[in-house]
Amino acid sequence: MKRSNTIIPQSNPKAGYLAHRAEIDRAIKRVMECGWYILGREVEAFEKEFAAYLGVHHAIGVGNGTDALELALRACGVGSGDLVFTVSHTAVATIAAIELVGATPVFVDIDPKTYTMDPNSLAAALVRPLKGSPKAVIPVHLYGQSADMPVILKLAHRYGLKVIEDCAQSHGAMLNGRMTGTWGDIAAFSFYPTKNLGAFGDGGMVATKDTSLAERVRLLQQYGWRKRYISDIPGGNSRLDELQSAILRVKLKYLNKENKRRNKLAAIYTDTFSGHSLVLPASTAREEHVFHQYVIGTAYRDGLKDYLKQNGINTLIHYPVPVHLQPAYKGRIKVVSSLIYTENAAKRILSLPIYPELSEKEVRFVAMKVLEWFVLKKL
Ligand SMILES: *Cc1c(COP(=O)(O)O)cnc(C)c1O
Repeated sequence: MKRSNTIIPQSNPKAGYLAHRAEIDRAIKRVMECGWYILGREVEAFEKEFAAYLGVHHAIGVGNGTDALELALRACGVGSGDLVFTVSHTAVATIAAIELVGATPVFVDIDPKTYTMDPNSLAAALVRPLKGSPKAVIPVHLYGQSADMPVILKLAHRYGLKVIEDCAQSHGAMLNGRMTGTWGDIAAFSFYPTKNLGAFGDGGMVATKDTSLAERVRLLQQYGWRKRYISDIPGGNSRLDELQSAILRVKLKYLNKENKRRNKLAAIYTDTFSGHSLVLPASTAREEHVFHQYVIGTAYRDGLKDYLKQNGINTLIHYPVPVHLQPAYKGRIKVVSSLIYTENAAKRILSLPIYPELSEKEVRFVAMKVLEWFVLKKL
C-alpha cells in the first residue's frame, strides 16, 4: 500500500480552523468591527469562561505560555538566588522562564513510565544541601498527562515550596477527577497553535485560586498599573489579544469533545500496538489523559521515524535533547541528580500524528506502517 502523495502531518492547526470555520470567522469579524483590540470585552469574557472551565477564581490572559510561567514565578516572589525544582524532559520554555526571573533551575528526573516528574527524585533533591533558597517546584503535565500531584504537593508543603503547574500541554487533563491547573498555587497555560486549545498566534493564561497572586499577575502584566499610566510596581507588557481571545472562546466550547476524540484515536494506536515490543503511553485507571501527544518508545526510533517519513507520515520528537544537555545550558546549570531516565527517554521517544481531525483510517494506516517496519527489520 503506497501513499505517494498524501502527507499525514504530526499536528494540524489549520484543520482546527476549518472544523469551526464559520464560527471563528464570525468571531474575527466581530472583533475587527468593534474597533477595540487590546484588553477589552473578549479577553475579559474568555478569562471568565476559562476560569469557570477549570474551576478556579482567576484567569489572566497573557502573551504566551513562557510569559505565563514567568509571571507566575514573579507573582510567587521567585527571583535571583532562588532555586526552582523542575524536569529537564520538557519544552525549553519551562527552564527559560525560571532563568528569566533570575532563579536557578534544579533538575529532577522523570518517571520512565509517565515521562513526568518522579516524586522520589524530587524528594532526593530536596534533602540535598544546595546553594540558593528553595522556593518553588514546577511539575510539567507532559503530553497531556497529569504529573503525580498528590505526592508532589505533599513534598512541596513539607519544604515550604510554591507549586507552579506547567499546563501548556494539559488543557482539560485531570487526575482523580481533578483538573490540572487547580492543584498547585498557580498554573501556566499556552495557547500556541498546536496545543489542545490553540490560538492562531501566540497566547497564554495564568490561572489561580489565590486572589493576591492573581492581583500580582494583573499588575505585572501591564507595567504595574492599577490606574492607567500610573505604575505602582515595575512591570512589563504581556497581554492576550482580543482577536485571539474571541477565537479561543469558540474553541474552548469544543475542547472536551476534542480531547475525547484524541482519546479515541489514542485507543486505536494502543489496541493495534498491544502485544508488540513498543513502549506505550502509561495510563492508570484514575487519570484523564488528553493526549496532547501520543508517544511511543523504541530503541530503533530513528530508523522507524525515517520509514514513516518515506511513507508520508510526519512524526516529531518531544524532545530530542534534554534541556540540561543543550548548548545554552550544558555545564552552566549544575546537575545534582541522576537524570538517567530523562536521558534514556530522549533516545527512544517518538510522537505519532495526533489531532482531533485525524481520521480513524489514517490512525490505522500510521499504526500499520509502524508495525510493518518492525516486520521488515525482523525486530
Ligand atoms: C508550549 C510549551 C510552553 C511554552 O508555551 P509558549 O506559548 O510557546 O511560550 C511551556 N511549557 C511546555 C511544556 C510547553 O509545551
